[in-house]
Amino acid sequence: MEDRAALLARVSADSGTEIKDPATGEAIGRVAFGTPTDVAVAVEAAAKAQPGWAALSDEDRRAALMRAADAIEEHAEELAYVVSREQGKTMNGLGARYEAAGCAAWVRAAASTPLPVEVLVDEPASHVELHYRPIGVVGAITPWNWPMIIACWQVAPALRMGNTVVQKPSEYTTLTGLAIAAVLNEALPPGVLTVVTGAGDVGDALVRDRRVGKVMFTGSVKTGMKVVAASAGNLSRLTLELGGNDAGIVLPDADPRAIAEGLFWGAFINNGQTCAAMKRLYVPDTIYDDVVDALAAVTAKIPMGVGLDEDNALGPLQNQMQWNVVNRLVEDAKARGARVVTGGDPDTSATGYFYPKTLIADIDNSAPLVQEEQFGPALPIIRYTDLEQAIEWANAVDVGLGASVWSADRDEAAAIAARLQAGTVWINAHGPIDPRVPFGGAKHSGYGLEFGVEGLKAVSVPQVING
Ligand code: ADP
Repeated sequence: MEDRAALLARVSADSGTEIKDPATGEAIGRVAFGTPTDVAVAVEAAAKAQPGWAALSDEDRRAALMRAADAIEEHAEELAYVVSREQGKTMNGLGARYEAAGCAAWVRAAASTPLPVEVLVDEPASHVELHYRPIGVVGAITPWNWPMIIACWQVAPALRMGNTVVQKPSEYTTLTGLAIAAVLNEALPPGVLTVVTGAGDVGDALVRDRRVGKVMFTGSVKTGMKVVAASAGNLSRLTLELGGNDAGIVLPDADPRAIAEGLFWGAFINNGQTCAAMKRLYVPDTIYDDVVDALAAVTAKIPMGVGLDEDNALGPLQNQMQWNVVNRLVEDAKARGARVVTGGDPDTSATGYFYPKTLIADIDNSAPLVQEEQFGPALPIIRYTDLEQAIEWANAVDVGLGASVWSADRDEAAAIAARLQAGTVWINAHGPIDPRVPFGGAKHSGYGLEFGVEGLKAVSVPQVING
Protein backbone atom coordinates (compact mmCIF):
# COMPACT_ATOMS: atom_id res chain seq x y z
CA MET A 1 0.00 0.00 0.00
CA GLU A 2 1.13 3.54 -0.74
CA ASP A 3 2.36 5.67 2.13
CA ARG A 4 -0.79 7.67 2.83
CA ALA A 5 1.22 10.42 4.56
CA ALA A 6 3.43 11.00 1.47
CA LEU A 7 1.34 13.82 -0.01
CA LEU A 8 1.17 15.65 3.32
CA ALA A 9 4.96 15.48 3.55
CA ARG A 10 5.28 16.68 -0.06
CA VAL A 11 3.22 19.88 0.47
CA SER A 12 4.61 20.67 3.91
CA ALA A 13 7.28 23.41 4.02
CA ASP A 14 10.67 23.03 5.77
CA SER A 15 10.10 26.15 7.81
CA GLY A 16 7.21 28.46 8.56
CA THR A 17 4.12 28.20 10.71
CA GLU A 18 3.53 24.89 12.43
CA ILE A 19 0.13 23.35 11.64
CA LYS A 20 -1.57 21.25 14.30
CA ASP A 21 -4.05 18.40 14.10
CA PRO A 22 -7.30 19.80 15.59
CA ALA A 23 -8.08 16.45 17.24
CA THR A 24 -4.76 15.78 18.95
CA GLY A 25 -2.75 18.99 18.87
CA GLU A 26 0.07 17.09 17.14
CA ALA A 27 2.23 18.99 14.65
CA ILE A 28 1.48 17.70 11.15
CA GLY A 29 3.50 20.03 8.95
CA ARG A 30 4.52 23.59 8.23
CA VAL A 31 3.25 26.33 5.95
CA ALA A 32 5.19 29.27 4.58
CA PHE A 33 2.36 31.80 4.40
CA GLY A 34 2.41 34.19 1.48
CA THR A 35 1.82 37.92 1.42
CA PRO A 36 -0.10 40.22 -0.91
CA THR A 37 3.05 40.64 -3.03
CA ASP A 38 2.96 36.94 -3.90
CA VAL A 39 -0.45 37.49 -5.47
CA ALA A 40 0.99 39.67 -8.22
CA VAL A 41 3.52 36.98 -9.15
CA ALA A 42 0.87 34.26 -9.22
CA VAL A 43 -1.56 36.34 -11.27
CA GLU A 44 1.24 37.21 -13.70
CA ALA A 45 1.95 33.50 -14.22
CA ALA A 46 -1.76 32.77 -14.68
CA ALA A 47 -2.17 35.62 -17.16
CA LYS A 48 0.82 34.36 -19.17
CA ALA A 49 -0.48 30.80 -19.27
CA GLN A 50 -4.06 31.76 -20.14
CA PRO A 51 -3.87 32.35 -23.93
CA GLY A 52 -2.18 28.99 -24.50
CA TRP A 53 -4.69 27.17 -22.33
CA ALA A 54 -7.63 28.92 -24.02
CA ALA A 55 -6.17 28.08 -27.43
CA LEU A 56 -6.49 24.37 -26.74
CA SER A 57 -9.66 22.77 -28.00
CA ASP A 58 -12.50 22.19 -25.56
CA GLU A 59 -11.81 18.48 -26.10
CA ASP A 60 -8.19 18.85 -25.01
CA ARG A 61 -9.14 20.77 -21.87
CA ARG A 62 -11.78 18.18 -21.06
CA ALA A 63 -9.20 15.43 -21.49
CA ALA A 64 -6.77 17.22 -19.15
CA LEU A 65 -9.50 17.53 -16.52
CA MET A 66 -10.34 13.84 -16.90
CA ARG A 67 -6.67 13.05 -16.24
CA ALA A 68 -6.83 15.36 -13.22
CA ALA A 69 -9.81 13.37 -11.92
CA ASP A 70 -7.81 10.16 -12.45
CA ALA A 71 -4.97 11.69 -10.43
CA ILE A 72 -7.40 12.50 -7.61
CA GLU A 73 -8.54 8.89 -7.59
CA GLU A 74 -4.96 7.63 -7.55
CA HIS A 75 -4.15 9.87 -4.58
CA ALA A 76 -7.55 9.59 -2.89
CA GLU A 77 -6.29 7.97 0.30
CA GLU A 78 -3.45 10.49 0.64
CA LEU A 79 -5.82 13.41 0.04
CA ALA A 80 -8.24 12.01 2.61
CA TYR A 81 -5.37 11.69 5.07
CA VAL A 82 -4.33 15.35 4.61
CA VAL A 83 -7.84 16.72 5.10
CA SER A 84 -8.52 14.45 8.05
CA ARG A 85 -5.36 15.56 9.82
CA GLU A 86 -5.70 19.24 9.05
CA GLN A 87 -9.47 19.77 9.04
CA GLY A 88 -10.32 17.12 11.61
CA LYS A 89 -13.04 15.23 9.72
CA THR A 90 -13.14 11.46 10.00
CA MET A 91 -11.62 9.24 7.34
CA ASN A 92 -14.85 7.23 7.34
CA GLY A 93 -18.52 8.12 6.88
CA LEU A 94 -19.40 11.46 5.33
CA GLY A 95 -15.82 12.57 5.97
CA ALA A 96 -12.44 12.67 4.30
CA ARG A 97 -12.72 9.76 1.85
CA TYR A 98 -16.20 10.96 0.94
CA GLU A 99 -14.78 14.42 0.21
CA ALA A 100 -11.94 13.00 -1.91
CA ALA A 101 -14.38 10.89 -3.93
CA GLY A 102 -16.55 13.97 -4.44
CA CYS A 103 -13.55 15.89 -5.80
CA ALA A 104 -13.06 13.32 -8.55
CA ALA A 105 -16.79 13.26 -9.33
CA TRP A 106 -17.06 17.05 -9.63
CA VAL A 107 -13.92 17.41 -11.73
CA ARG A 108 -15.23 14.72 -14.07
CA ALA A 109 -18.59 16.44 -14.25
CA ALA A 110 -16.97 19.79 -15.11
CA ALA A 111 -15.10 17.98 -17.89
CA SER A 112 -18.07 16.10 -19.28
CA THR A 113 -20.98 18.55 -19.07
CA PRO A 114 -21.87 19.56 -22.64
CA LEU A 115 -22.00 23.25 -23.48
CA PRO A 116 -22.69 23.43 -27.21
CA VAL A 117 -22.89 26.64 -29.20
CA GLU A 118 -26.50 27.77 -29.10
CA VAL A 119 -28.07 28.78 -32.39
CA LEU A 120 -30.54 31.48 -31.38
CA VAL A 121 -31.80 32.51 -34.80
CA ASP A 122 -31.44 30.56 -38.02
CA GLU A 123 -33.34 32.25 -40.82
CA PRO A 124 -32.41 33.06 -44.42
CA ALA A 125 -31.57 36.65 -43.50
CA SER A 126 -30.17 36.13 -40.03
CA HIS A 127 -27.96 33.64 -38.22
CA VAL A 128 -27.18 34.30 -34.58
CA GLU A 129 -25.10 32.10 -32.28
CA LEU A 130 -24.32 32.29 -28.58
CA HIS A 131 -20.82 31.23 -27.55
CA TYR A 132 -19.21 31.08 -24.13
CA ARG A 133 -15.68 32.54 -24.07
CA PRO A 134 -13.07 32.48 -21.31
CA ILE A 135 -12.97 35.42 -18.91
CA GLY A 136 -9.18 35.26 -18.41
CA VAL A 137 -7.80 34.80 -14.92
CA VAL A 138 -10.16 33.57 -12.22
CA GLY A 139 -9.42 34.09 -8.52
CA ALA A 140 -10.73 31.26 -6.32
CA ILE A 141 -11.05 31.77 -2.57
CA THR A 142 -12.03 28.83 -0.37
CA PRO A 143 -13.04 28.19 3.27
CA TRP A 144 -11.84 25.55 5.75
CA ASN A 145 -14.91 23.31 6.14
CA TRP A 146 -14.75 21.33 2.86
CA PRO A 147 -11.38 22.60 1.67
CA MET A 148 -10.72 20.10 -1.13
CA ILE A 149 -14.08 19.78 -2.76
CA ILE A 150 -14.90 23.48 -2.72
CA ALA A 151 -11.56 24.13 -4.43
CA CYS A 152 -12.57 21.62 -7.13
CA TRP A 153 -16.01 23.25 -7.49
CA GLN A 154 -14.32 26.57 -8.22
CA VAL A 155 -11.26 25.48 -10.18
CA ALA A 156 -12.54 22.75 -12.50
CA PRO A 157 -15.34 24.66 -14.29
CA ALA A 158 -13.08 27.72 -14.61
CA LEU A 159 -10.37 25.63 -16.27
CA ARG A 160 -12.82 23.83 -18.52
CA MET A 161 -13.96 27.18 -19.92
CA GLY A 162 -10.41 28.23 -20.83
CA ASN A 163 -9.58 30.39 -17.83
CA THR A 164 -6.50 29.99 -15.70
CA VAL A 165 -6.89 30.09 -11.92
CA VAL A 166 -5.13 31.52 -8.89
CA GLN A 167 -6.42 29.72 -5.83
CA LYS A 168 -6.22 30.93 -2.24
CA PRO A 169 -7.06 28.30 0.35
CA SER A 170 -8.24 29.25 3.82
CA GLU A 171 -5.36 29.92 6.18
CA TYR A 172 -6.87 27.21 8.43
CA THR A 173 -6.52 24.50 5.78
CA THR A 174 -3.57 25.54 3.66
CA LEU A 175 -1.92 22.12 3.49
CA THR A 176 -5.13 20.64 2.11
CA GLY A 177 -5.37 23.43 -0.46
CA LEU A 178 -1.79 22.80 -1.54
CA ALA A 179 -2.41 19.04 -1.66
CA ILE A 180 -5.45 19.12 -3.94
CA ALA A 181 -3.74 21.63 -6.25
CA ALA A 182 -0.57 19.49 -6.38
CA VAL A 183 -2.63 16.50 -7.46
CA LEU A 184 -4.62 18.48 -10.07
CA ASN A 185 -1.37 19.92 -11.37
CA GLU A 186 -0.05 16.45 -12.13
CA ALA A 187 -2.40 16.60 -15.12
CA LEU A 188 -2.31 20.32 -16.00
CA PRO A 189 0.21 22.45 -17.91
CA PRO A 190 2.36 24.84 -15.84
CA GLY A 191 0.80 28.14 -14.79
CA VAL A 192 -2.77 27.04 -15.38
CA LEU A 193 -3.47 26.55 -11.66
CA THR A 194 -1.39 28.42 -9.10
CA VAL A 195 -1.89 28.55 -5.33
CA VAL A 196 -1.19 31.56 -3.14
CA THR A 197 -1.27 30.92 0.58
CA GLY A 198 -2.13 33.39 3.30
CA ALA A 199 -4.93 35.05 5.18
CA GLY A 200 -7.56 37.66 4.35
CA ASP A 201 -5.04 40.26 3.19
CA VAL A 202 -3.84 37.87 0.49
CA GLY A 203 -7.43 37.14 -0.55
CA ASP A 204 -8.11 40.86 -0.67
CA ALA A 205 -5.07 41.45 -2.90
CA LEU A 206 -6.31 38.73 -5.25
CA VAL A 207 -9.75 40.35 -5.48
CA ARG A 208 -8.20 43.77 -6.12
CA ASP A 209 -5.80 42.60 -8.86
CA ARG A 210 -7.01 44.17 -12.10
CA ARG A 211 -6.04 41.12 -14.15
CA VAL A 212 -8.50 38.93 -12.23
CA GLY A 213 -11.74 39.06 -14.20
CA LYS A 214 -13.81 36.79 -12.00
CA VAL A 215 -13.78 35.85 -8.35
CA MET A 216 -15.26 32.62 -7.07
CA PHE A 217 -15.71 33.08 -3.32
CA THR A 218 -17.02 30.68 -0.68
CA GLY A 219 -16.99 31.94 2.89
CA SER A 220 -18.86 34.08 5.37
CA VAL A 221 -21.45 36.73 4.55
CA LYS A 222 -19.29 39.39 6.17
CA THR A 223 -16.25 38.58 4.05
CA GLY A 224 -18.44 38.19 0.95
CA MET A 225 -19.54 41.80 1.39
CA LYS A 226 -15.88 42.85 1.60
CA VAL A 227 -15.21 40.98 -1.63
CA VAL A 228 -18.02 42.85 -3.36
CA ALA A 229 -16.62 46.18 -2.17
CA ALA A 230 -13.00 45.33 -3.04
CA SER A 231 -13.93 44.15 -6.53
CA ALA A 232 -16.01 47.21 -7.39
CA GLY A 233 -13.16 49.09 -9.05
CA ASN A 234 -12.57 46.18 -11.42
CA LEU A 235 -16.24 45.39 -12.04
CA SER A 236 -15.14 41.79 -11.58
CA ARG A 237 -17.69 39.09 -12.10
CA LEU A 238 -18.51 37.31 -8.84
CA THR A 239 -19.91 34.02 -7.69
CA LEU A 240 -20.57 34.24 -3.96
CA GLU A 241 -21.49 31.17 -1.95
CA LEU A 242 -21.90 32.56 1.55
CA GLY A 243 -23.26 31.41 4.86
CA GLY A 244 -26.64 29.95 5.61
CA ASN A 245 -28.94 29.34 8.52
CA ASP A 246 -30.97 26.58 6.91
CA ALA A 247 -34.34 25.71 8.41
CA GLY A 248 -35.90 22.25 8.38
CA ILE A 249 -39.66 22.13 8.79
CA VAL A 250 -41.28 18.88 9.85
CA LEU A 251 -44.95 18.57 8.90
CA PRO A 252 -47.44 16.88 11.27
CA ASP A 253 -47.82 13.79 9.04
CA ALA A 254 -44.11 12.87 9.12
CA ASP A 255 -42.99 9.61 10.72
CA PRO A 256 -40.48 10.62 13.43
CA ARG A 257 -38.49 7.39 13.34
CA ALA A 258 -38.35 7.26 9.56
CA ILE A 259 -36.94 10.78 9.27
CA ALA A 260 -34.63 10.82 12.31
CA GLU A 261 -31.47 9.65 10.58
CA GLY A 262 -31.96 12.07 7.68
CA LEU A 263 -32.53 14.91 10.12
CA PHE A 264 -29.40 13.98 12.04
CA TRP A 265 -27.05 13.93 9.06
CA GLY A 266 -28.72 16.98 7.54
CA ALA A 267 -27.65 18.89 10.62
CA PHE A 268 -24.47 17.13 11.77
CA ILE A 269 -22.64 16.38 8.50
CA ASN A 270 -19.03 17.48 9.00
CA ASN A 271 -20.01 18.39 12.55
CA GLY A 272 -22.38 21.07 11.30
CA GLN A 273 -19.47 22.87 9.61
CA THR A 274 -21.27 22.91 6.28
CA CYS A 275 -22.77 25.94 4.56
CA ALA A 276 -25.99 24.14 3.70
CA ALA A 277 -26.40 22.06 6.85
CA MET A 278 -29.71 22.20 8.70
CA LYS A 279 -29.14 24.73 11.45
CA ARG A 280 -32.61 25.00 13.02
CA LEU A 281 -35.43 22.50 13.09
CA TYR A 282 -39.13 23.38 13.38
CA VAL A 283 -41.32 20.56 14.68
CA PRO A 284 -45.11 20.56 15.28
CA ASP A 285 -46.33 20.27 18.81
CA THR A 286 -48.31 17.09 17.95
CA ILE A 287 -45.19 15.00 17.25
CA TYR A 288 -42.56 17.14 18.98
CA ASP A 289 -41.56 14.70 21.70
CA ASP A 290 -41.45 11.75 19.30
CA VAL A 291 -39.16 13.63 16.88
CA VAL A 292 -36.87 14.76 19.70
CA ASP A 293 -36.69 11.22 21.11
CA ALA A 294 -36.01 9.67 17.69
CA LEU A 295 -33.31 12.23 16.97
CA ALA A 296 -31.74 11.67 20.38
CA ALA A 297 -31.66 7.91 19.73
CA VAL A 298 -29.77 8.40 16.44
CA THR A 299 -27.45 10.98 18.00
CA ALA A 300 -26.48 8.59 20.80
CA LYS A 301 -25.30 6.00 18.28
CA ILE A 302 -22.88 8.21 16.31
CA PRO A 303 -19.28 7.89 17.52
CA MET A 304 -17.20 11.07 17.78
CA GLY A 305 -13.42 11.11 18.15
CA VAL A 306 -10.10 11.37 16.34
CA GLY A 307 -10.66 11.34 12.58
CA LEU A 308 -8.01 8.73 11.83
CA ASP A 309 -9.80 6.19 14.01
CA GLU A 310 -11.86 4.17 11.52
CA ASP A 311 -14.67 3.69 14.05
CA ASN A 312 -15.52 7.38 14.29
CA ALA A 313 -18.11 9.21 12.22
CA LEU A 314 -17.61 12.74 13.59
CA GLY A 315 -14.40 14.50 14.59
CA PRO A 316 -13.50 17.73 16.37
CA LEU A 317 -14.35 21.23 15.25
CA GLN A 318 -11.64 22.64 13.04
CA ASN A 319 -10.49 25.54 15.19
CA GLN A 320 -10.80 27.34 18.50
CA MET A 321 -12.69 30.27 16.96
CA GLN A 322 -15.53 27.97 15.85
CA TRP A 323 -15.51 26.04 19.13
CA ASN A 324 -15.99 29.36 20.94
CA VAL A 325 -18.95 30.30 18.72
CA VAL A 326 -20.72 26.99 19.37
CA ASN A 327 -20.01 27.10 23.08
CA ARG A 328 -21.24 30.69 23.41
CA LEU A 329 -24.51 29.95 21.60
CA VAL A 330 -25.23 26.79 23.61
CA GLU A 331 -24.37 28.46 26.92
CA ASP A 332 -26.71 31.30 26.01
CA ALA A 333 -29.50 28.80 25.19
CA LYS A 334 -28.99 27.09 28.53
CA ALA A 335 -29.10 30.40 30.37
CA ARG A 336 -32.42 31.16 28.66
CA GLY A 337 -33.90 27.98 30.04
CA ALA A 338 -33.89 25.88 26.87
CA ARG A 339 -33.77 22.12 27.46
CA VAL A 340 -30.53 20.25 26.78
CA VAL A 341 -31.59 16.88 25.38
CA THR A 342 -28.04 15.67 24.92
CA GLY A 343 -24.56 17.20 24.88
CA GLY A 344 -23.96 20.82 25.78
CA ASP A 345 -21.30 19.86 28.31
CA PRO A 346 -17.88 20.08 26.63
CA ASP A 347 -14.88 18.69 28.48
CA THR A 348 -12.67 21.76 28.49
CA SER A 349 -9.70 19.86 29.85
CA ALA A 350 -9.66 17.43 26.90
CA THR A 351 -7.21 17.75 24.00
CA GLY A 352 -8.61 18.90 20.68
CA TYR A 353 -11.52 21.09 19.65
CA PHE A 354 -14.16 18.52 20.47
CA TYR A 355 -17.67 19.73 21.13
CA PRO A 356 -20.27 17.08 21.99
CA LYS A 357 -23.22 16.36 19.72
CA THR A 358 -25.86 18.64 21.17
CA LEU A 359 -29.63 18.80 20.81
CA ILE A 360 -31.42 21.77 22.36
CA ALA A 361 -35.22 21.50 22.70
CA ASP A 362 -37.91 23.94 23.81
CA ILE A 363 -35.88 26.88 22.69
CA ASP A 364 -37.39 30.20 21.76
CA ASN A 365 -37.14 31.19 18.10
CA SER A 366 -35.50 34.47 19.06
CA ALA A 367 -32.52 32.79 20.78
CA PRO A 368 -29.12 33.46 19.18
CA LEU A 369 -28.60 29.69 18.69
CA VAL A 370 -31.57 29.87 16.30
CA GLN A 371 -30.93 33.27 14.75
CA GLU A 372 -27.15 33.01 14.23
CA GLU A 373 -25.16 30.47 12.23
CA GLN A 374 -23.65 28.07 14.79
CA PHE A 375 -21.62 26.08 12.22
CA GLY A 376 -21.16 23.28 14.68
CA PRO A 377 -22.76 20.20 16.25
CA ALA A 378 -25.57 21.92 18.18
CA LEU A 379 -29.08 21.77 16.76
CA PRO A 380 -31.93 23.90 18.16
CA ILE A 381 -35.36 22.26 17.86
CA ILE A 382 -38.19 24.78 17.93
CA ARG A 383 -41.77 23.78 18.71
CA TYR A 384 -44.59 25.17 16.56
CA THR A 385 -48.36 24.90 16.61
CA ASP A 386 -49.17 26.94 13.51
CA LEU A 387 -47.45 25.97 10.24
CA GLU A 388 -47.79 29.54 8.93
CA GLN A 389 -45.77 30.69 11.93
CA ALA A 390 -43.06 28.12 11.19
CA ILE A 391 -42.82 29.26 7.56
CA GLU A 392 -42.59 32.86 8.71
CA TRP A 393 -39.81 31.99 11.17
CA ALA A 394 -37.96 30.00 8.52
CA ASN A 395 -37.94 32.98 6.17
CA ALA A 396 -37.27 35.66 8.78
CA VAL A 397 -33.47 35.67 8.46
CA ASP A 398 -31.18 37.53 6.06
CA VAL A 399 -29.68 34.35 4.58
CA GLY A 400 -31.29 31.71 2.36
CA LEU A 401 -28.98 28.94 1.20
CA GLY A 402 -30.91 25.70 1.74
CA ALA A 403 -34.05 24.53 3.55
CA SER A 404 -35.99 21.30 3.91
CA VAL A 405 -39.54 20.06 4.39
CA TRP A 406 -40.26 16.64 5.94
CA SER A 407 -43.58 14.98 5.21
CA ALA A 408 -45.28 11.78 4.07
CA ASP A 409 -47.04 13.83 1.40
CA ARG A 410 -44.65 14.95 -1.32
CA ASP A 411 -47.10 17.39 -2.93
CA GLU A 412 -47.89 19.05 0.36
CA ALA A 413 -44.15 19.33 1.07
CA ALA A 414 -43.49 20.78 -2.39
CA ALA A 415 -46.17 23.43 -1.83
CA ILE A 416 -44.44 24.51 1.40
CA ALA A 417 -41.03 24.30 -0.30
CA ALA A 418 -42.14 26.84 -2.91
CA ARG A 419 -42.77 29.36 -0.13
CA LEU A 420 -39.32 29.08 1.46
CA GLN A 421 -36.72 31.69 0.58
CA ALA A 422 -33.74 29.48 -0.21
CA GLY A 423 -31.63 28.49 -3.21
CA THR A 424 -32.39 24.80 -2.68
CA VAL A 425 -35.26 23.20 -0.78
CA TRP A 426 -34.95 19.48 -0.16
CA ILE A 427 -37.89 17.21 0.61
CA ASN A 428 -37.29 14.50 3.24
CA ALA A 429 -33.55 15.14 3.15
CA HIS A 430 -31.26 18.06 3.81
CA GLY A 431 -28.05 18.71 1.94
CA PRO A 432 -27.59 16.17 -0.87
CA ILE A 433 -25.90 17.81 -3.84
CA ASP A 434 -25.26 16.58 -7.37
CA PRO A 435 -22.76 17.88 -9.93
CA ARG A 436 -25.56 18.08 -12.54
CA VAL A 437 -27.77 20.28 -10.38
CA PRO A 438 -27.12 24.01 -9.94
CA PHE A 439 -26.41 25.18 -6.41
CA GLY A 440 -26.54 28.73 -5.09
CA GLY A 441 -28.10 30.95 -2.49
CA ALA A 442 -30.92 33.43 -2.06
CA LYS A 443 -30.70 36.72 -0.16
CA HIS A 444 -27.42 37.18 1.76
CA SER A 445 -26.31 33.62 1.01
CA GLY A 446 -24.88 35.01 -2.20
CA TYR A 447 -25.44 34.99 -5.92
CA GLY A 448 -24.32 33.06 -8.95
CA LEU A 449 -24.69 29.34 -9.50
CA GLU A 450 -22.21 26.51 -9.25
CA PHE A 451 -22.41 23.03 -10.85
CA GLY A 452 -24.08 21.87 -14.03
CA VAL A 453 -24.21 23.87 -17.21
CA GLU A 454 -25.08 27.01 -15.20
CA GLY A 455 -21.79 26.58 -13.36
CA LEU A 456 -19.86 26.54 -16.65
CA LYS A 457 -21.68 29.60 -17.92
CA ALA A 458 -20.81 31.41 -14.69
CA VAL A 459 -17.08 31.25 -15.46
CA SER A 460 -17.32 32.51 -19.00
CA VAL A 461 -18.34 35.56 -20.99
CA PRO A 462 -21.29 35.06 -23.29
CA GLN A 463 -20.55 36.27 -26.81
CA VAL A 464 -23.13 36.69 -29.54
CA ILE A 465 -21.98 36.11 -33.11
CA ASN A 466 -24.52 37.82 -35.28
CA GLY A 467 -24.33 37.34 -39.03
P1 ADP B 1 -14.61 31.36 7.36
O1 ADP B 1 -15.11 31.84 8.66
O2 ADP B 1 -15.41 30.29 6.73
O3 ADP B 1 -13.13 31.11 7.32
P2 ADP B 1 -14.13 33.73 5.82
O4 ADP B 1 -15.13 34.38 4.98
O5 ADP B 1 -13.46 34.50 6.88
O6 ADP B 1 -14.93 32.52 6.39
O7 ADP B 1 -13.00 33.05 4.97
C1 ADP B 1 -13.19 32.45 3.71
C2 ADP B 1 -11.99 32.72 2.84
O8 ADP B 1 -11.91 34.12 2.57
C3 ADP B 1 -10.65 32.35 3.46
O9 ADP B 1 -9.81 31.82 2.44
C4 ADP B 1 -10.13 33.69 3.94
O10 ADP B 1 -8.72 33.76 4.06
C5 ADP B 1 -10.61 34.61 2.85
N1 ADP B 1 -10.71 36.03 3.22
C6 ADP B 1 -10.81 36.57 4.46
N2 ADP B 1 -10.92 37.92 4.38
C7 ADP B 1 -10.88 38.23 3.06
C8 ADP B 1 -10.98 39.44 2.31
N3 ADP B 1 -11.13 40.63 2.92
N4 ADP B 1 -10.92 39.39 0.98
C9 ADP B 1 -10.82 38.19 0.34
N5 ADP B 1 -10.73 37.02 0.97
C10 ADP B 1 -10.75 37.02 2.32
